[in-house]
Amino acid sequence: MAQQGCSEFLDRIDERHPNQPEYVQAVREVVADVWELVEQDARYRRARVLERLTEPDRSVSFRVSWEDDSGGAHVARGYRVQTCNALGPYKGGLRFHPSVNESILKFLGFEQTFKNSLTGLPIGAGKGGADFDPRKRSDAEVRRFCQAFMIELLRDIGPETDVPAGDIGVGDREIGYLFGQYKRSSGNFAGALTGKPLAFGGSELRSEATGFGVVYFTAAVLERAGETLDGKRCAVSGAGNVATYCARKLLEEGGTVVSLSDSGGTLAVEDGLSNDHLDWLGTRGRRLHDLAEEFGLAYREDSKPWSLECDLAFPCATQNELDAADARGLVDGGCGWIVEGANMPCDPEAHEIFAESKAVLCPGKAANAGGVAVSALEMSQNASFQRWTRKRVDKLLRGVMGRIHHACADQFEDADRPDYVRAANRAGFIRVAEALVAQGIG
Ligand code: NDP
Repeated sequence: MAQQGCSEFLDRIDERHPNQPEYVQAVREVVADVWELVEQDARYRRARVLERLTEPDRSVSFRVSWEDDSGGAHVARGYRVQTCNALGPYKGGLRFHPSVNESILKFLGFEQTFKNSLTGLPIGAGKGGADFDPRKRSDAEVRRFCQAFMIELLRDIGPETDVPAGDIGVGDREIGYLFGQYKRSSGNFAGALTGKPLAFGGSELRSEATGFGVVYFTAAVLERAGETLDGKRCAVSGAGNVATYCARKLLEEGGTVVSLSDSGGTLAVEDGLSNDHLDWLGTRGRRLHDLAEEFGLAYREDSKPWSLECDLAFPCATQNELDAADARGLVDGGCGWIVEGANMPCDPEAHEIFAESKAVLCPGKAANAGGVAVSALEMSQNASFQRWTRKRVDKLLRGVMGRIHHACADQFEDADRPDYVRAANRAGFIRVAEALVAQGIG
């Protein structure tokens, strides 16, 4: 009966969100794990908690017209999905990438709801972006795009309503341009964006927070299993913000990082990457094949890192980057832990393979919550006109990641076979569901 109710609910999700496969995938994954909680609690059913969480509060799209360096006009589509503000102001990144559409932003906003809830901090959830590709544009073009984008976004955001941050394609540079336009147009120097450079309201460690947080969470998972990172071989995908800071922290903790990757292929380093390699790469601009050439390393075009021998895998690039064949390769190769640095990087078939194996899958909504947690700390610093030290922020970040791990562990149904995916979904759901019930229908 419960099973039937769940599948009817999911059929309705399919019907209500046609042509939005990423969104439906994200909802399916969570609903299967929390359905029982809703069945058991009449308050959740009366308040239609699941129906409300699966319908974003508001979703806007807007035209962004901008000019290239030769005076040519371009039109992009911008979005902001305000998913749920039951726990605090809408909070979630902006993504600039040609693949951006409403389905991807709705899925990211939905994931963000449970992630932000897990942090225990007062932040709601949202996500936004545009189908614009900053990688192919000059600095002046990126600036003009960011200014045009912010002129449209401005009316929907503010330090107490909605506070965007970065994501794929939106780093320090873009946040700087976006903030400059926000300030000019609104006349307010207010914390309406996080991920700002340190010089004007940014927080220490925000750039590093997601990647570092992934490693802090991993350390807690390993500790529970009586293990440490020391000497472990770690395959990392991606070469952007999350991947590079994850790699840096893994090195610090004694791990051997055997790969990075990008949309062109994989940098495979049998003996492990060094800090010199990461310094050279920086967080933006330099490409992996250039790094390979500079240091005489192997760059395998059109390949992923998942066939490399490793103890831990860290998918840190993008959604659905790790499929069934990759999962099978990892499991057969003896990989024991898969820790998602990216949002939803493992597809549903990969999930099934991990669930049937001994490998432990740590979902992004728990493992990569460090970025949004430090964004929330940036909001606190902005609101109180303070700037905290790196040491203090790092301590708070470690504390948040430890508490997320505890919140998951509290939900384990079988302590010998910890299911972090189900546990994170349930722990994240309970806090937001309680808030929705307490705030009444609306
Ligand atoms: P960046 O733009 O800094 O880096 C993304 C990296 O992933 C690039 O190396 C890019 O390569 C690679 N990549 C993108 N698409 C593909 C693809 N289809 N196949 C292979 N590689 C690909 O983004 P972030 O590091 O900020 O974000 C990475 C992931 O982490 C995303 O899922 C994001 O939502 C998530 N995340 C980010 C947070 C943050 O604080 N930044 C917070 C929480 C989650 P190329 O340059 O060749 O495209």
